Amino acid sequence: MKKWECTVCGYIHVGDEPPDECPVCSADKSMFVEVVEEQNPAETAAAPETAPQPQPTVPPSLPAKIYALASALTVRYHLHPIMVHTPNGVVPMALVFMLITVWFGLPLFETAALYSLVFVLVSMPMVLFTGYVMWQQRYRGAFTSIFKIKIGASIAAVVLLLGLVIWRAVQPDIASSASTGRWIYLFCCLLLVGVVGTAGHFGGKLVFGSRKD
Ligand SMILES: [Zn+2]
Repeated sequence: MKKWECTVCGYIHVGDEPPDECPVCSADKSMFVEVVEEQNPAETAAAPETAPQPQPTVPPSLPAKIYALASALTVRYHLHPIMVHTPNGVVPMALVFMLITVWFGLPLFETAALYSLVFVLVSMPMVLFTGYVMWQQRYRGAFTSIFKIKIGASIAAVVLLLGLVIWRAVQPDIASSASTGRWIYLFCCLLLVGVVGTAGHFGGKLVFGSRKD
């Protein structure tokens, strides 16, 4: 039996042939390389002699330096999952606060829902930046279906958040008014929970998908 490694997410497949599609990140067959267990020591020793000459480099600009530092910190300290978990937990709270507002007519909870949504919206630049860095650095910017879903969910989350906050600013009594708009507003909150849940689910699949337990 041969071992094949997905070059996008690191999933290991055991078999004579690589799978048609990676079960974790959906990368196709061509992205798999065979894992060679034993290496000939003579070949390894010979390799350094053909080391390429260092190329003259242009000093990086300040934004490039800042991006490089931010990328290194994001990867080293797992800043994407850290940045994602708090806003992801606050989104369902906003929905719960909205439901309490509608059912019990308590305006205080409507304010709590608004602040929750604003908090998530303010967190989004860091969520998106750290997510982009991880995608580029760890998954080499592979544009497979799992990343398309995650990117689509992120865009949908930003659009929904902006829509909900702007709508509330324009119509402060949206949750307490007995109108159809209130139900649409509530549905958008529910949709937001679904969208961030989807992004989180596939993020979890990327991180834990290749584990056997
Ligand atoms: Zn993969």
